Amino acid sequence: MTSSLIYLDNNATTKVDPRVVEKMLPYFTERYGNASSISHPLGWSAKQALDDAREHIAALIHASPDEILFTSGATESNNIVLFAHARRNASFVSTPVEHSSILNPLAELTARGSHVRLLPVDRLGKVSVGSLDTGDQSGTLVSVILANNEIGTIQNMTSISGYCRDKGFLLHTDATQALGKTPVDVDELGVDFLSLSAHKFHGPKGVGALYVRKVKGRRPLPAHSFGGGQERGIRPGTENVPAIVGMGEAARLCLEDSSSQQEHLILLRDFLQKNIVEKLEGVTVNGDLERRLPNTLSLTFRGVDAEDLLMKVPEICLSTGSACESGSGKSSHVLQALGMTDEEAHGTIRLAVSRFTTLDEVQRASNQIVQAVQSIRNYRF
Ligand code: PMP
Repeated sequence: MTSSLIYLDNNATTKVDPRVVEKMLPYFTERYGNASSISHPLGWSAKQALDDAREHIAALIHASPDEILFTSGATESNNIVLFAHARRNASFVSTPVEHSSILNPLAELTARGSHVRLLPVDRLGKVSVGSLDTGDQSGTLVSVILANNEIGTIQNMTSISGYCRDKGFLLHTDATQALGKTPVDVDELGVDFLSLSAHKFHGPKGVGALYVRKVKGRRPLPAHSFGGGQERGIRPGTENVPAIVGMGEAARLCLEDSSSQQEHLILLRDFLQKNIVEKLEGVTVNGDLERRLPNTLSLTFRGVDAEDLLMKVPEICLSTGSACESGSGKSSHVLQALGMTDEEAHGTIRLAVSRFTTLDEVQRASNQIVQAVQSIRNYRF
């Protein structure tokens, strides 16, 4: 891999922090026990590692460790919550700007006969709490993404949760993009369930968690699959100890010095934005500029096809407004839900910085993007 690459696709995935890798390594080679082996020290050490990781994850979202369930990532966490409630005949309310790991299970549940309603969003990608009010039954599961992966808009979860509480709805949030970039407190948000994924905050891929609020008298989630009883029997299977240790360490590192990490993200993101927007006409910054992920910049260039732009900046790893539809060439469902035309969506790119991004990189990247847009426009007009 050439070292001149500038990685600005941190909402797709992040580099695993070397401190995380270091913490994981002994769990492959020396402390390789099964956490369910209660009869010897290697089992005890694996169990202790899981307990420690559970504490770090709980601390990151201000939950208690016994409210954390380990999963293979946010896709699985989202599926566990949705299918558990379908088995209880719940109705669902969600939004059109969710990740496909919410929208596709909801499409499947609709096909199986569940009632699913998607709330409208405005041009910034925000849900209006008023639109929740259409007489859904108590016990309805509302699922709203906390921070959008494409445009970075952060929802007003506190007012959504206030409404849900009054109506007796349960509230799930997909917080996958928010974790590690912005503080998350399950009590402040007022959510019952929350999904997260380690690879979005400098942990390894293929591991995540589901927060399940403990409420006296509330029934536990039903088993998602059946096996050896791990993860309270809801998500059984031998735990991936090295990955979970990595996720725990990644969570701990996010909490360490979190405000200066956030400042770093904002500084670089705003530099990118300023350097591009000031030098070019016809650029729109998408999302809610008042409440947006500190690392995320979504830009639409008038009269430019983002795929052409991509070809002109081979050093920069970024995402286009159609990339998330798996190379289908279709516009992203998120950009469509904002009311963008196909042309606008196809002229949209997403840049996302991380703790490892440098000022030199964003300087080089923004200059290259400006030159590329100018050259595409000069060629066309
Ligand atoms: N939700 C959101 C908002 C995401 O951005 C992603 C990852 N692209 C997921 C869920 C799925 O996460 P995972 O890769 O852990 O399954």
